[in-house]
Amino acid sequence: VPYDYDLIVIGSGPAGERGAAQAAYFGKRVAVIEKEPKPGGAAVHTGTLPSKTMRETSIFLSGYRHAHLYGLHVALDPEQAVPKLLSRKDTVINEEVDRILGNLDRHRVSLLHGKAHLVDAHTVEIATPSTLEGPRRATGEFILIATGSVPHRPSHIPFDDPDIDDSDTILRIDRLPTSLTIIGAGVIGCEYASMFAALGVKVTLVEPRAELLSFLDAEVSEALRLGLIELGVDVRLLTAAGEVRREGDLIVTELRPSDPSAAPSTVATDKLLFCAGRSGATASLGLEALGVVLGKRGAVEVDANYRTNIPSIYAAGDVIGFPALASTSMEQARVAVCHAFGFDYKRQVSELLPYGIYTIPEVSCVGLSEEDAKARGHEVAVGRAHYRDNARGRIIGDTTGLVKLVFDKPSRKLIGAHCVGDRATELIHIGQSLIMTCGTLDTLVEMVFNYPTLAECYKYAAYDALGSVRQGA
Ligand SMILES: Cc1cc2nc3c(=O)[nH]c(=O)nc-3n(C[C@H](O)[C@H](O)[C@H](O)COP(=O)(O)OP(=O)(O)OC[C@H]3O[C@@H](n4cnc5c(N)ncnc54)[C@H](O)[C@@H]3O)c2cc1C
Repeated sequence: VPYDYDLIVIGSGPAGERGAAQAAYFGKRVAVIEKEPKPGGAAVHTGTLPSKTMRETSIFLSGYRHAHLYGLHVALDPEQAVPKLLSRKDTVINEEVDRILGNLDRHRVSLLHGKAHLVDAHTVEIATPSTLEGPRRATGEFILIATGSVPHRPSHIPFDDPDIDDSDTILRIDRLPTSLTIIGAGVIGCEYASMFAALGVKVTLVEPRAELLSFLDAEVSEALRLGLIELGVDVRLLTAAGEVRREGDLIVTELRPSDPSAAPSTVATDKLLFCAGRSGATASLGLEALGVVLGKRGAVEVDANYRTNIPSIYAAGDVIGFPALASTSMEQARVAVCHAFGFDYKRQVSELLPYGIYTIPEVSCVGLSEEDAKARGHEVAVGRAHYRDNARGRIIGDTTGLVKLVFDKPSRKLIGAHCVGDRATELIHIGQSLIMTCGTLDTLVEMVFNYPTLAECYKYAAYDALGSVRQGA
């Protein structure tokens, strides 16, 4: 056997774990190299799971979902909140680490500990933390780079200040701030803004663009903006953050409105969270020396099969850039591995990607927004169903939720689904299934839904769209 392994995977996040398991499932000899003491990557340790767990804890502790239904006032002790936030997060992280270790073990994947860099197109050098062991080398027929991404840290932000955080360090907070400025209203910025606001922190969210999450349907983006304002977030759109400096106990951020006639101002808060972008974790992998082409912000360039310009080297997950989600990272890695070994299995990542945004309220979408559908020349029929008109919505007390469906009018096919409100990230998969199976407005009208359910909103949104289809007929 010319190589130590059939596949060497660098990184044990969602991409690394799933890529490794896929190859091992088909009988390949696989090693995963991880520099951190525990596997899981950003998804488990600094990103997806901790932020979603903290969100769920903050919703529970603040009584956000139900307290108002029973006239209860939840007085949150800020001293108690942080230990509870952190301990629940740690429990979930530890359980997930155990699951990953079990999965790698079951697939007989070797987990090697150390920091990897590439020596040539088939050889990886692993620097181990223990100087006694010294670096070791391993060879593989194929190498999958799944090293993820790191928060972008521009030099003008003084990250050495203990009250200035990025999305990694915010998870180590030891106290609940009274006020927080968040620079960057991307998915991560919006999620943390709503979570902290639910806990009673006074949040200012600063974003140079004109709307929140511009990839969303405009109506849903606006519903999110109103939801954040309702929570008490001071949403500053069309505003760039300028200089950030400490003044006494506070962090002062210069706010520069994009309207030149509006005067610049400042906001002074207890803490600042900077979350405007991430960069591919490629800095010390030795890729440039091998001639692997890198793009913007250190992202590895790959073709449709996730192969780099070096035939034995593939890359998947955050390290290749957009869309940089745990959900897509896993699929990309599976596709990469199937292509490398020629398995007659997954050939491409579905083009129909769902987006889940765990803000309060929750937001999710799949397919085309109304604006995108029109821009692509579709004649559209749009239907809406509000949670306030839905029995389950009223039972759980979510009166602002919305399901919006976009149909192609001539064919009556569903081409976009958009939800804002409780369980939106779960509900969206009904729309995704229908779009993938070419379901139409009539499919929804015919379906019998459990009653009472939020899912039933799909049926009523279809009836609503039917009105506009009939009018046009
Ligand atoms: C705050 C936050 C919230 C998020 N929420 C969501 C969400 O709700 N849903 C969603 O789908 N996605 C979410 N994401 C994105 C998600 O976390 C990432 O898309 C996902 O983790 C990417 O997986 P990956 O395997 O590509 O990389 P990672 O998970 O980053 O894993 C990379 C691994 O490689 C290791 N590594 C790096 N360099 C080396 C080296 N040289 N040698 C050895 N090991 C190395 C790292 O230590 C790490 O363990 C969120 C991200 C953040 C930051």
